[in-house]
This record gives sequence, structure tokens and C-alpha cells, in this order.
Amino acid sequence: MESARRCALCFGLKGDLSRKAGQIAHIDRDASNADEANLVYLCLEDHDEYDSKTSQSKGITAAELTEYKKRLNAAIADGEHAVQQASASNDDARAAAILGHDKRIFQTSDQILGESSLIEFLDQLQTDDSYIITDARRLDRFRRMFTETGNQYINQELATSLSSLLSALDAILRFTALNFFVYPRQQSAEEPRRFCMYPELNCDRDGSGTPEDMNRYAKFQLQLDELANNTREAYERYRMDVKNVLVQ
Ligand SMILES: [Zn+2]
Repeated sequence: MESARRCALCFGLKGDLSRKAGQIAHIDRDASNADEANLVYLCLEDHDEYDSKTSQSKGITAAELTEYKKRLNAAIADGEHAVQQASASNDDARAAAILGHDKRIFQTSDQILGESSLIEFLDQLQTDDSYIITDARRLDRFRRMFTETGNQYINQELATSLSSLLSALDAILRFTALNFFVYPRQQSAEEPRRFCMYPELNCDRDGSGTPEDMNRYAKFQLQLDELANNTREAYERYRMDVKNVLVQ
């Protein structure tokens, strides 16, 4: 009752006032001495360790344990264990609230731009040097969602990997905005418009196939590949962090 099932060694050595499964130990290690002053509540782990120490191994001494028992009883009498428990459950509630907030942000953003949409966009860029405007807009909406108030991850790991992903998306969207053009020039008004990288340099499109043009085109392709691969890597890291942080 005096210790409220708190372990005298956990408290004495670590300030730990949480409730423990434990046993009554004999401070003088003599099981026949059941004098109240010789008894102390210890957690199972500390009880094992206390009983296994010999006088040579610099283990916890009987005098030390008696002192820890005295301090623990005083703390319990002052109600410190109740205060520690309340602040621990506040911490739990805070952690759960952060997790819930970050999960909601992820779900909202994932509805705007899911993994398969991003991969399809990058695949089309890298295999066909083209994109459909609605796919690019989806990336842009994803990016802008995170600039709105309240839409930031609280978890630092997630915030960091998201920020790398957003930079990669910025770079690739800037590149496509500068170097891609409506192509074919005549497109149906009902279909979302298709954009292609320098059709006049690409001999499969409007290009004449001169070595100079093909050379220039190949340089743009290299830049595009690098930006797309950076985006893939940033997205993979981000999804890995999402998995580690949010899936529990
Ligand atoms: Zn203990």
C-alpha cells in the first residue's frame, strides 16, 4: 500500500513512478526476516537483479535500497505518482492528436495525387516526352495543397521528406512549363490538351532530323530524365517515411 505498486529501484535510479508488476523483496536478502522495515516492493526485473548481486559486484547495497524505499514512500505520500501518470497520459493524447492530424493531411493529399498518378505522369514524360495537362494540374494541386494554412505535417521526418518532394515537383513542373508545347497543334476541344517537348526538334514529330537538332533534343531529354528520376526518388523516400510514421 505504501509504495502503490511502484518499484523503489525504478524510482530511486530513474525517477520512474509508473506502476510495475512486482514482488516483495527482502532488503537484507534474508528470506526469513519479514520485518516490515526489511521489505520493499520491486519490479520483477529489479528484484532478480537485486537478489543476484553478490557483495563483490558493486550491486545495489541494502543501505541504498532502504534509502530509495524511504524516498519512494515519501513521493507516494505526496501524490507524485498521480501527477506523473496524468502528464504521461497528456503526452499520449498529444501524440495521438499529432498522428491523427498528419494522417488526415496524407489522405487528403493522396486523393489529389496518388502514387499511380504520379508514376504514370513520370513514365509518360520519360518514354514519350509528353504529358496531358490534367496530370500536370494534379501535381500542381498537390503542391499547392501543402502551402495552405494547417496543411503542414507536424512530424519532422515527414515534413523534411515532403519538402524534398515538393522541391523535386517544383523543378520538374518548371522544366515542363518552359520546354513543352501544345502538340499536336490541332486538338479536340473536348480532350485534355497534350504537351510535347520541343516537337520541332524531335524527328518523330515536327523535327527535320538534323544532327544539330537531335543533339539539342538529346540534351533536353537528359535534363528531363534527371528531374524525373529525382522526383521518383524523393517520392519513394516520402512514401517510406509515411509508412514508418503514420502506419502504426
Ligand atoms: Zn524496478
